[in-house]
Order: sequence, then C-alpha cells, then structure tokens
Amino acid sequence: MSVPFPDKLDPWRAARTGLCLEGVLAAREFTRIPAPGQVLAPVRARLKAGVDGNGLVRIDLWLEAEMSWQCQRCLNPLGWTQTAARTFEVRDSQDQHTDSQALGRAGTDVEYEVITAARGELLSLQDLIEDELLLALPFAPMHENCKPILGTTDAPRLKPDNPFAALAALQDRNNLK
Ligand SMILES: [Zn+2]
Repeated sequence: MSVPFPDKLDPWRAARTGLCLEGVLAAREFTRIPAPGQVLAPVRARLKAGVDGNGLVRIDLWLEAEMSWQCQRCLNPLGWTQTAARTFEVRDSQDQHTDSQALGRAGTDVEYEVITAARGELLSLQDLIEDELLLALPFAPMHENCKPILGTTDAPRLKPDNPFAALAALQDRNNLK
C-alpha cells in the first residue's frame, strides 16, 4: 500500500518505538535533482528505526525512484530505476562525549552515516531522502547500447557557441562604428 511519507521524523521517538514506515514521496517535491535529471513518479521509500545492542539509535532507509535524464553518449532521453539504501546512526548533538564514543567504536567494521540531532529535534525526511537520491545518481548516465552522437567515440562535446550570440556581438561591433 502506498501511503504518503511524513515530512518530519523525531528519530529518538522513532527508535524508542521501533518505527517502521513504508510509503511514497511525490516526485514534484525533489527540486535539487540537477536538470535535465528528473524524478518521474512518486519515490517509494522504507524506513526502520531502532536501538541496537549498544544502545545506539539506528535508522535504515531504502528508496527506489523512476528517473529520466539525457544519455551522455547519444544525448537521447534515458530512463532507469534508481535505488539507494543506507543505515544512519543518530547522535545527540548535545552529548559532549560523542567524539570519544565514536573513537571507541572506530574498530567496528560497519560504516554508518552519522546524523546529529538534539533530543526532540525533528529530521526532515524529505531532505534525507533527496540527499540519498543525489548521492546515488550516476555521474554520466548512458544507454547500455547506443551510438555516440556525431559518430565519434569522444565524450559528448560542449554545446557549440550560440550562432545568434555571435551574430549579436558582430552587430554590436558594427553599431560602435
Ligand atoms: Zn544513449
């Protein structure tokens, strides 16, 4: 079932109650995806909060988004399904011992993304999910099989100078005479 994700989350409360969420975020809410990248459909997301055996607050986040972009080889539209998953550790921003605790755990083999938040502070799920989507995006999205534009194997060229801009510059110069 697709229920809208809440905008904000109290990570401390969520961990205490073992919150599990599954839902969607409207595609139009993602404004930081660089053009011509686009989120085409509501993003499916799952979130699970809890406290681990060491008393640390953990949030597992998973998301899946239908994306479109421009292929960096043939420059035609390209669509794909982007997934991302990450575990966050939430630390109390007012806890003076946070750093020494972190050092004490340096030997553990699992890497978590650390979020600091004050007790009772709300996290923006929208921002968290958009951050993860941005991090997961490919650097240069391409079709698996397509022909490069202009029949070369070079990376796509930068846009040629706008011929009208060149004309306008010429005209300006003429007007100065
Ligand atoms: Zn292509």
